[in-house]
Amino acid sequence: MRYISTRDDSSTPARKTFTDILLGGLAPDGGLYLPESYPQITRAELDAWRGLSYAELAFAVISKFVDDIPADDLKALIDKTYTASVYCNGRNPELAAEITPVRWLEPGLGLLELSNGPTLAFKDMAMQLLGNLFEYVLEKRGETINILGATSGDTGSAAEYAMRGKRGIRVFMLSPHNRMSAFQRAQMFSLQDANIFNIAVRGMFDDAQDIVKAVSNDHEFKSRYKIGAVNSINWARVLAQTVYYVRAYLAGTRSNDEQIVLSVPSGNFGNICAGHIARMMGVPIARLVLATNENDVLDEFFRTGIYRPRGTAETMVTSSPSMDISKASNFERFVFDLVGRDPNVVRALWASVDAGGSFDLTGTPHFARLPTFGFASGKSCHADRLATIRRIHEQYGIMVDTHTADGLKVAAEHRLPGISTLALETALPAKFEETIVEALGMTPARPASMVGIENLPQRVEVMDVDVDAVKRYIERHCN
Ligand SMILES: *Cc1c(COP(=O)(O)O)cnc(C)c1O
Repeated sequence: MRYISTRDDSSTPARKTFTDILLGGLAPDGGLYLPESYPQITRAELDAWRGLSYAELAFAVISKFVDDIPADDLKALIDKTYTASVYCNGRNPELAAEITPVRWLEPGLGLLELSNGPTLAFKDMAMQLLGNLFEYVLEKRGETINILGATSGDTGSAAEYAMRGKRGIRVFMLSPHNRMSAFQRAQMFSLQDANIFNIAVRGMFDDAQDIVKAVSNDHEFKSRYKIGAVNSINWARVLAQTVYYVRAYLAGTRSNDEQIVLSVPSGNFGNICAGHIARMMGVPIARLVLATNENDVLDEFFRTGIYRPRGTAETMVTSSPSMDISKASNFERFVFDLVGRDPNVVRALWASVDAGGSFDLTGTPHFARLPTFGFASGKSCHADRLATIRRIHEQYGIMVDTHTADGLKVAAEHRLPGISTLALETALPAKFEETIVEALGMTPARPASMVGIENLPQRVEVMDVDVDAVKRYIERHCN
């Protein structure tokens, strides 16, 4: 399996291996990496896979995309990642062993639990594997990496819990000082591992993000201090997520004659991109339901064919904050497939996007082909979120988090007769207490290990919005 860039229009495109692109981000031409072609899942494989454990299934799927890590090593890395103790979250051992159990609300409608990892959000599903893959590849090459990132909440904690204590890896995570919830701060800042560095900047998330960009654009500094990233465009993250789409199909159906509808709360298009890939591999997914919050760029595209990313000033702060995104960083991967994998078309479309503009596929053959990709979309606002959290609690006695509520709201608008629907649960309600209290007047339960986490000692360096100060801090801690 080789990987190509969505923007490589040369007559002999560069063909990279999995480990070539594992540690990097964008391709040098600004595009995103995708496999040259999607390996297919045969009917016989789907039949055989019904009996597999999560880790066995993960190996079956991921090994189709990786040919430069010896199979035994890859298997060991996957086995050590997807264990009941990592994805336990205080549940009974049998449920924990399923890693991503389905919780049926009623016949034909269920939740795919993806949030039982260490930070209570689906990002652990991929990030934990990334931590183990990074450590393995760095050790083989005798290299080290300093991961620099900015977070408004979920990504930073998932990255830190995946990389803590890993050899050859340091994490420098910037966050906006006093802007995250007390729980999110405690999750990150209470980590005492020597390779984890939290930096709170006196500014907003965008200020933190701008510092990361500025440091990464200093090529001399970047290469001297081996600065890397683990952001949502990382191919290995998308690949690891593909596994649970296959799992969702197998767990949500009784035989391979059935199809399934899957609903996905979306921001950067990373999660649902993995669903698209599973569908391209032949998993019988009848519909991928894309749910946005008030920041509805993606819903707008799937309804109209117009992709109109917005600026920071136009991005709303909502009660499903992990979807407060107005430029979907993984969307280019889908559009590459939509336009028949023509890098020239992608280049032309993103020339406009990267210049702060938009594109409109209305009336083009590309837009005419859109329905064949199985997407449906919708949006959910604060009032919908509260109503859904209340309705699910009243009808089924289950608390869902705000993002999952957006997914359930839009799922209800796109169900298909005779086909089961699974809504992907992207976080646990304990992470977003305030809105749960607003909706239900009660506080969601926390896993025992996180009770009182706010009272633990915290390690964080508070700084002004100052690129040089961050660079000096990294220098001081790299020796
Ligand atoms: C990151 C995140 C999302 C959005 O996922 P994308 O891959 O960015 O589309 C949704 N819900 C939660 C809880 C998240 O942390």
